[in-house]
Amino acid sequence: MSLVLFNDLTRKKEKFIPIKEGHVSFYSCGPTVYDYFHVGNARPFIVFDVLRRWLEHSGYKVTFVQNFTDIDDKMIHRAHKENITVKELAEKFISEYNKDAEALGIRKPDVSPRATEHIPEIINTIEKIIANGHAYVSEGDVYFDIQSWPKYGSLCKQNLEDLEAGARVDPTEKKKDPLDFALWKAEKPGEPSWESPWGKGRPGWHIECSAMSSKYLGENIDIHSGGVDLMFPHHENEAAQSEAASNNGKPFVNYWLHNGFLLIDSEKMSKSLGNFLTARAAIEKYPPLALRFFMLSAHYRSPINFTPEGLEQAAAGVMRLRNCKIDLDFASHTRKNNKSDFDINKFESELNELDKKFAEAMDDDFNTAAAMGILFDVVYLINTSLKEHEFLPEEFFESSLKALNTYDEILGVIGSDDSESENDDESKEIEKLISERTEARKNKNFARSDEIRNLLKARGIVLEDTPQGTKWKREL
Ligand code: AMP
Ligand code: ZN
Repeated sequence: MSLVLFNDLTRKKEKFIPIKEGHVSFYSCGPTVYDYFHVGNARPFIVFDVLRRWLEHSGYKVTFVQNFTDIDDKMIHRAHKENITVKELAEKFISEYNKDAEALGIRKPDVSPRATEHIPEIINTIEKIIANGHAYVSEGDVYFDIQSWPKYGSLCKQNLEDLEAGARVDPTEKKKDPLDFALWKAEKPGEPSWESPWGKGRPGWHIECSAMSSKYLGENIDIHSGGVDLMFPHHENEAAQSEAASNNGKPFVNYWLHNGFLLIDSEKMSKSLGNFLTARAAIEKYPPLALRFFMLSAHYRSPINFTPEGLEQAAAGVMRLRNCKIDLDFASHTRKNNKSDFDINKFESELNELDKKFAEAMDDDFNTAAAMGILFDVVYLINTSLKEHEFLPEEFFESSLKALNTYDEILGVIGSDDSESENDDESKEIEKLISERTEARKNKNFARSDEIRNLLKARGIVLEDTPQGTKWKREL
C-alpha cells in the first residue's frame, strides 16, 4: 500500500502523488511568537513533524518549511505592553519556541523563515496579485479583491454568498467588499513599518505564508498543514493569494491537511479563552515523551481531550515501551547464546508482518493511533520471547533493537535510556555503585545496600533485582 492522505480540498482520502518524484515540498504554519506556545499549538508541531519523519522513512526527500509569524496585531500589542520592540519580543519567543520544541523532540524544519525577513518577497507577491487584477490599493492599504476570485471558498466549502452574509463589516476599513482582506496595511503611529510602493506599512498575516512558501518551495507545493482553525480564513486566503500571484492555473497546494483541536474540558485550548497550559508548564508537569505519546495515540484529525488521566496513561505507555528496551538490553548482556533453540526465523517473520502492518497504518492517512497499537504488538512479541526463553541468539537482540529504534525514530515515544549507553561517564558511575551494592548484599551489609539504593533513587534511578543481576532505569 502506498501513502493515502485525507485532503481537505476534496474532503476525501487520496493517494499521495508528489509533484516531483521522490521529493515532497511541505509547508506548515508555525507559531505567532508573542508568547510561549501552549499544548494545543504543540499538537500540529508534533504530528506534522512525525508525518515528515514518516515521509522520509518512506524514502522521500522532504523539504519542510515552518514559519515564524513575527509581525501582527498580537505581536504589536504584547510588545507595547512589555515596553520592548516587536523584534525583541520575537527574538525572545523564537528562542523559547526552539527550547520547548527540542524538549518535545520536534525536529527543526529545513527552513524557519520569519515574516519580517521577507518583506521584499511579500511586496513582490502583492505586486503580482495587483498586476493580475486581483488586488487593489486603498489609501495605503492593499486588499485582495474577493469578487475577482470565483474560487474563493473552495477550501472551506462555503459559497461567496454565505461567506458574505457572515462577514463582519467594519466601517473604518477602506475596502470594496466586507470579505476583502488586507495584503498590506498602511502604517499606524507607533507600529513597525517598511517602505513599499504603496507607502510605509506592514504585511497582512496571510500573505507571509504565500510569499515564503513560494520562495522556499515553489509556486505549487505538495502538502500544507496547520490546525483546523486555520482552514478559514487563513488557508483560504493563502490559496487565493498564491494562485492569484502565480496565475498558472495550478493549485497552490495539492494536499491540505488539518489537525483537530486539543480540547480541555471539551473546549478548544486557546489563549483567548484562557484555558491553556503552556508547553513549558506541561513539560515541567509531565514527561515530554508522555506528551508526544498522548498526541500520537489519537488520529491527527480527531479532537483530543487533554486530561491528567490521559497523560498518566500516556506516561504508563511510555514506561512499558521503555521497559521492553531496558529488558532487552539487560538480557543481551546476560542471556545471549547462539546455541539457543529459539526459532529466529519464525520470530523475524512475525516481526516483518508487524512491520507491514505498521506501514499500512501510517500510510492510511497517517494513522499514528493504529501504528502505536502495532508498536505494542511488537513489544508484546519481544516480551513474550524474553519470558519464554532463557537464552536467545544474537539475531534476536539485533532485530528487536533495530525494530524498536526504527519505530522510535519515526514516533519518538520511547527515548534512549542511559542504561544502554555504557560509555557514558554517569552510567559508569551508576554501574560502579550497583556493583558495590551487590558486594554489600553478598556481605550482608544491608545498611550500605539500602543506602546506595536510596542514593540512586534520589537521582531518579530505580533498581530492580533479577536472578541475572540488577537492572536500572531512569524514572521518566
Ligand atoms: P498560532 O500560534 O495561534 O498561529 O497557532 C499555531 C498552530 O496551533 C496553528 O496551526 C493552530 O491551528 C494550532 N492550534 C491552535 N490551538 C490549537 C488547539 N487547541 N488544538 C490544536 N491545534 C491548535
Ligand atoms: Zn500560514
